[in-house]
Amino acid sequence: MQTPKDRIALVTGANKGIGFEIARQLGQEGHHILVGARDRGRGQTAVAELGSKGFAARFVQIDLTKLDTIAGAAADIEAHEGRLDILINNAGSTSSGDGSPGAASLEAVRNTFDTNFFGTLAVTQAMLPLLKRSASGRIVNLSSGLDSLTQTGDPSSEFAEFRFIGYGASKAALNMLTVQLAAELKDSGIKVNSADPGYTATDLNGRRGRQTIPEGAAAAVRLALMPDEGPTGGFFNASGPQPW
Ligand code: NAP
Repeated sequence: MQTPKDRIALVTGANKGIGFEIARQLGQEGHHILVGARDRGRGQTAVAELGSKGFAARFVQIDLTKLDTIAGAAADIEAHEGRLDILINNAGSTSSGDGSPGAASLEAVRNTFDTNFFGTLAVTQAMLPLLKRSASGRIVNLSSGLDSLTQTGDPSSEFAEFRFIGYGASKAALNMLTVQLAAELKDSGIKVNSADPGYTATDLNGRRGRQTIPEGAAAAVRLALMPDEGPTGGFFNASGPQPW
């Protein structure tokens, strides 16, 4: 059975970059977008841009490091939509003091975990009751090739030279959330997967990524819209399954 149109999708960090593009592509498919952003002005600008293309979009304020905004976002969605079909845990960050394990600042590593792991876990927990009301819920966690233990440990891999212990470890922890939550929810109809966008030209990397932003959004959009027969508890890029 194909996933129905007109689903309600929350995308965190949807005001720019890959998150905005995921929201745009889901809007183009006819779904109702909740534009999660920590800054009201940036979020409303994104909503206006999506609205100008004829897509249904609404701003939801959500800062992954502020639990009150996460609780507020869940209450807001409960009051307005009453359920959630798709949660895209896209918001993520790097920290300037991050680096190799021997040199990274502990504070930078903690800050990175605060957003990428603890913040994402908090959003997921807050949204679960709403997702459980969906006929076929989907959770997509934006992970990274840089968190793949297999690829990081392979000296011939392009990822072996990148050493950002905070970023890599926080995204590896996020992958553990994917695996454990997928198992916890296996009888619920909710599918949980990690998406690796690939190295994409956004503000996160000073626009040095080799892929375009639409290419970077592709894996997450596919996982969000996959039919009920699709996989759960996996790690995928646009070409297919990736090693953990
Ligand atoms: P980006 O252009 O820097 O966008 C990041 C988004 O996350 C922005 O909307 C930002 O909001 C938001 N954000 C950051 N911290 C937040 C917080 N505490 N609360 C709420 N929102 C927050 O980066 P991107 O490249 O599109 O990254 C999107 C996701 O893909 C991230 O999870 C990233 O780790 C992952 N990823 C990216 C690449 C790549 O090559 N670009 C590769 C692998 C994985 P503000 O505008 O308010 O800062």
